[in-house]
Amino acid sequence: MGKVYLVGAGPGDPELLTVKAARLLARAEIVFHDSLVSAEVLRLIARDAEVINVGKRCGRKLLTQQEINSLLVAAGTKQEVVIRLKGGDPLIFGRAGEEIEALRNAGVDFEIVPGITAALGAAAAAGISLTDRRAASQIVFSTFSRGAQSTAMDWGAITSTTTLALYMPGPDYAEVAYRLREGGLPGDVPCAIVSNASGTQQQIRRTTVAELAHEEKLPAPALMIVGRVAAQRVQEISKAFWRSDVKGHEAHRPAVS
Ligand code: SAH
Repeated sequence: MGKVYLVGAGPGDPELLTVKAARLLARAEIVFHDSLVSAEVLRLIARDAEVINVGKRCGRKLLTQQEINSLLVAAGTKQEVVIRLKGGDPLIFGRAGEEIEALRNAGVDFEIVPGITAALGAAAAAGISLTDRRAASQIVFSTFSRGAQSTAMDWGAITSTTTLALYMPGPDYAEVAYRLREGGLPGDVPCAIVSNASGTQQQIRRTTVAELAHEEKLPAPALMIVGRVAAQRVQEISKAFWRSDVKGHEAHRPAVS
């Protein structure tokens, strides 16, 4: 009986791997990785290890989640050092929950090795203090669903002191802008788009919610940091309360007699 390690590969730069992740990669017998994992990180895998790309990109599914779960369970019962390598941190938008459940149900030993999630890599790249005390008191890691099952986002937690890290914004910036406005964010809220954070192709664009729809698209993977902390001069950004124009907001106010 072996052990399955769910390992965070970080945002791209291999220097941002944890020491533990690098050590495990060098000892791996079999590695199942996502497409997001950078080539530089993959190069750190032991030469004789079996390396399998189970990722999906642009909707082209290579393997279903259930198939991946079964592969992990099977490998965990046969091989000693099994690695499930995921971009960023395995527990953030990484479907680790389903894999953990499958491993638990099968009685396979596992361990989670955290990685630097894209929001933190992007913030570092753009020099944004996510919890700058002058402008923020909370961070929301979020995304919105698309397609037939798409529902309106629950923006209840977003206030003027929220920093929003938007994963998987997709290429339709006009839609993103629309959804942000719909959630009550004023147009002048700063937004930084970071593509390939920490990688060799890194690009950063600074804009606002109002301008976002007209911005040129940056290549995937890209993440948006939306909030007052993304301003070039945080001190000067308006403190106006958001959502004041959102329907229903009035209803929560105590009645004034
Ligand atoms: N587990 C990953 C997230 C997987 S979801 C993590 O913790 O980072 C995939 C999304 O992550 C992408 O659509 C993009 O929004 C973001 N992402 C991943 N790597 C990125 C990078 N190097 N630069 C910018 N965004 C990245």
